[in-house]
Amino acid sequence: MRIDKFICKSTELTRSEAKKLLKMGDVRVNGEVIKNAATQVHENNSVTVNGEALTARTSRYIMMHKPLDTICSNIDEVYPSLLNYIEVDKVFDLHIAGRLDADTTGLVLVTDDGRWSHNIISPKKDCAKVYRVNLRNAILPEKSAELIERFTAGLQLQGEEQLTLPAKLEILNEKEVLLTITEGKYHQVKRMFAAVGNKVVALHRQQIGKINLDIELGMWRYLTDAEVNSF
Ligand code: URA
Repeated sequence: MRIDKFICKSTELTRSEAKKLLKMGDVRVNGEVIKNAATQVHENNSVTVNGEALTARTSRYIMMHKPLDTICSNIDEVYPSLLNYIEVDKVFDLHIAGRLDADTTGLVLVTDDGRWSHNIISPKKDCAKVYRVNLRNAILPEKSAELIERFTAGLQLQGEEQLTLPAKLEILNEKEVLLTITEGKYHQVKRMFAAVGNKVVALHRQQIGKINLDIELGMWRYLTDAEVNSF
């Protein structure tokens, strides 16, 4: 990690304050004064600021139960960013691993570990996301098997060249299903149901990989080590 980022992560300082300290020669790595903010440091390097040792804060891993009318962006837009509801230091240093739309509720994972979130987001990593979907049009019992087969085979979404990856559709009742997908294209679930002539009226994510949503709407908690290590 860059030394300026390391300082930010280990203290309450901003990136520009960290750069100032570096310029002033106040920062040493393994005893040597370092002025270049781009210098790479590792967890086992000794980093001091004005003689005081810094310890790298380990990465943070959080689950949040996203309410309606919040967005998974790091800045507020028409709706507030979900990050506003997580009361931790430097919350805007975190990012959301797999966004949900403003009108979707459910499980969101938040971290500052880019490598970890890549395991969740990249379709190559085959990480299953389970959505509970409410539909406008009833699925007729005689059409269920064919519909399940279409989701398994892959759907042609508008504006996409490739079919969607195999998805698992479980019909709970005629207007409610569980859908498991391993990719996260823009508005993917809504577009998948549009591709079969239906419309999503409510969408909720209940599981990512082995992590199940188990907290109330609007609440958050740190993940357990077992949950973090499950990716
Ligand atoms: N698919 C959607 O259409 N919206 C979401 O929020 C998540 C998946």
